[in-house]
Amino acid sequence: MHGLMMDTPLLISSIVEHADINFHDREIVSVTADESLHRYTYKECFQRVRKLANALEKLGLSEGDRVATMAWNDYRHLESYYAIGGAGYVCHTINPRLFPEQIIFMINHAEDKWLMIDPMFIPLIEKIASQISDVKGFIVMGDEGSTKDTTLKNVISYEALIKDESDQFEWPLLDERAAMGLCYTSGTTGDPKGVLYNHRATILHAYALIAPDAMNLSNRDCVLPVVPLFHVNSWGSPYGAMMVGAKIVYPGPKMADGETLYNLMEEEKVTVSLGVPTVWLVLLQYAAKNNLKLNNLQRTIIGGAAVPESMIRDFHDNHDVFVQQAWGMTEMTPLGTVMSMKHGMEDLTHDEIIALQTKQGRGMFGVEMRIVDDNQAILPWDGVAFGALQVRGPWVCSDYYRLDGSADAHTGDGWFDTGDVAKIDPEGYMQITDRTKDVIKSGGEWISSIEIENTAMGHPGVAEAAVIGVAHEKWTERPILIVVKVKDASVDKQDILSFLEGKIAKWWMPDDVIFIEEIPHTATGKIKKTALREQFIDFKL
Ligand code: ADP
Repeated sequence: MHGLMMDTPLLISSIVEHADINFHDREIVSVTADESLHRYTYKECFQRVRKLANALEKLGLSEGDRVATMAWNDYRHLESYYAIGGAGYVCHTINPRLFPEQIIFMINHAEDKWLMIDPMFIPLIEKIASQISDVKGFIVMGDEGSTKDTTLKNVISYEALIKDESDQFEWPLLDERAAMGLCYTSGTTGDPKGVLYNHRATILHAYALIAPDAMNLSNRDCVLPVVPLFHVNSWGSPYGAMMVGAKIVYPGPKMADGETLYNLMEEEKVTVSLGVPTVWLVLLQYAAKNNLKLNNLQRTIIGGAAVPESMIRDFHDNHDVFVQQAWGMTEMTPLGTVMSMKHGMEDLTHDEIIALQTKQGRGMFGVEMRIVDDNQAILPWDGVAFGALQVRGPWVCSDYYRLDGSADAHTGDGWFDTGDVAKIDPEGYMQITDRTKDVIKSGGEWISSIEIENTAMGHPGVAEAAVIGVAHEKWTERPILIVVKVKDASVDKQDILSFLEGKIAKWWMPDDVIFIEEIPHTATGKIKKTALREQFIDFKL
């Protein structure tokens, strides 16, 4: 027997309708490519969202058509999210930092009909235009002058496109399982794979992320998402933040600029921020150098890569900011775990709390987790056993876009293999020890490269650290530590090894410490271990 409840589909357009009525005067502040600070209200935002939806309809798009965006975090990009997805099309966000070949692959594979780009990406798109010839036209996300010098064909500026449109739009009553977003994995191995989000997953994920034990977002918050809108839905923040009517602040193209981030945080009274560790390194260095304190920020959600303990302490000791580590992936919309304290933890010491913060957090309702060994046997949550981390739930991808049946990451029994190796403690706090592909196996035992890296990062002379395995006659593989020094720091191999002593297991001690000028990063700011391994392929211990 079915219950007698209304069958209202979970659609992102319902966030527009709700937020427009309830939070119309809440602000959205953006640094953009053409303005140092743009400021308007939710009401104005949604008027423009509806204008854009009308304009897109006139471009002759059909339901499910892909419209790609390549843009920084600002108000126009946010408007595109809602207009494209809400009107029944699919917003395909593209990371501009990828190689041109990858961008070409994604646009063609997704069969994008239109491309919406920030003015600064015009030269990039002009170069590849002949290789993406199925794209019907281009919308430059700027004012009417922003298209003046381009050789692109069928191009119009965002402002010209929406100028004469009505700010009324009837949102279609879509199937909640209809696709509305598309994001490709960065494809460090093989071609990028498309993850196709739907309305239902996005709304459920947004409900989960605003909860008190997750991001705890409310109407009283001011959110600064530094995590890009071009990568995994900016961790769902456009939906979660607008669901509760939080003030939103966007850094535009200045997301790696410590001064801009600091000033935005102070002037706009940002209470919560989201981003990857590398971004916060830049902010903390800027604050330290200029003797500044973050006065309004209460907490920062950090994910995408492991958060070094030194960063957690810096935020706490110098800024009174609580770090909540989060873990997830493109295939998971993206959130899987977020760190928050449990009942009964009130009396933990400061160091015990820090130890919890260095873990990746606990599973949210909606994401089931398990760890398994090489034979797929399920391992206990004892904080000791570690194995392949697998997940399932309504916002975990069931397959990749147009790779039907490939589902290479799926187990036979309905779980998704994350490619991470983790342990989970009895309280449910999960800790990533490695990527499966980065695991170092020495004498048959696994060594956690992440733990060594994080410990090394605690040395004041270390700006960045990466551990890789190199071939060893007796032990098959041994770890070596690659370090980028803090500018002008005088630190040598022995200093680092002495610092690590007692902090990590003896047999985890790196066999060598090598100093280099720069560690290679992926387009999403993560250490590119594949490139490092290649660089050190002939390294002899
Ligand atoms: P890409 O690497 O292609 O940009 P994702 O952004 O989806 O893809 O990356 C997901 C991966 O990032 C996870 O599988 C995990 O390895 C890593 N990751 C995410 N958050 C954390 C975290 N808090 N700690 C350690 N690793 C993390």
